[in-house]
Amino acid sequence: MIAVLRRDVPQAQVDNLIAWLNEQNIQVHVSKGEYQTVLGFIGDTTNIDIELIEGLDIIQNVTRITEPFKSANRKFHPENTVVDIGGVKIGGGNFALIAGPCSVESEEQILGIAHAVKASGATLLRGGAFKPRTSPYDFQGLKAEGIDFLLEAKEETGMPIVTEIMNANHLSLFENVDVIQVGARNMQNFELLKELGKTNKTILLKRGLANTLKELLMSAEYIMAGGNENIILCERGIRTFETYTRNTLDLSAVPMLKELSHLPVVVDPSHASGISRLVKPMALAAAACGADGLMIEVHNDPKRALCDGAQSLTPEQFDDVAKAVFAVRKAVEL
Ligand code: PEP
Ligand code: MN
Repeated sequence: MIAVLRRDVPQAQVDNLIAWLNEQNIQVHVSKGEYQTVLGFIGDTTNIDIELIEGLDIIQNVTRITEPFKSANRKFHPENTVVDIGGVKIGGGNFALIAGPCSVESEEQILGIAHAVKASGATLLRGGAFKPRTSPYDFQGLKAEGIDFLLEAKEETGMPIVTEIMNANHLSLFENVDVIQVGARNMQNFELLKELGKTNKTILLKRGLANTLKELLMSAEYIMAGGNENIILCERGIRTFETYTRNTLDLSAVPMLKELSHLPVVVDPSHASGISRLVKPMALAAAACGADGLMIEVHNDPKRALCDGAQSLTPEQFDDVAKAVFAVRKAVEL
């Protein structure tokens, strides 16, 4: 349920209403916009009398939110959320270019790629330290050492880092990580989401292989219900009957998610296509349809990559894609 306040109402009356709702076990989320202030009621509102609230002098109107996701709902928070990652902003017109290898393989590898992608305009560095691999015999990542190398790259370049968590027991290793990624395979690992909800880290939440947008938003809701509202949604392709591409990029997810939610939305054209030559056209399309950012895999030597080489760009190819992405953003005036 949301209540829109009339303009210039006395704060004491608003506080009284909030206190009364709190007594009924309803938490109130206040969203102060430029033109209006929206009170979002979180909890079981079935016994709250809409007419009673609507009758108050300070209230303009009250609406029940029928969608199961509340905190992530745009009705709850009409303005775009801008996530601030140590000064690097994403959302509300701020575009993030996240780049780096699928996995951190060595100190030289990550440092070399970090400098290269930064020079091309990347704003955040990605790299997997804990890798969710289909086969247990494949490279599983450098784990804690991989995070140390990422932190070294952050120190050298100033770029905040993004890396995936697979187990809440590893959280202490992520203390200095700026953005914690929840991969597609863990989108519905609800215990992990609850633990991340207790932190104040920015969470990059990837859409699951076969999950609907509603399910993605409900997973964001799990994190938000714990008090953490720093979430970036990521469309990374879904599984369909198509076999020429690794996944099918659902670009309609971008405008749909932005309509339904105030959270920033980024697109990962690398996992969505699985083929390096498709990354540029898909990145441009994502930029044109309003994505708040892109996450692109870049490797110094894709043929020898320990993970996802076929979809990785060389630093030179990334430089070309970045230039084209900035040109598209300018052309469509986003
Ligand atoms: C990744 O970003 O390297 C990754 C494993 O992505 P996804 O969870 O989308 O497959
Ligand atoms: Mn990958």
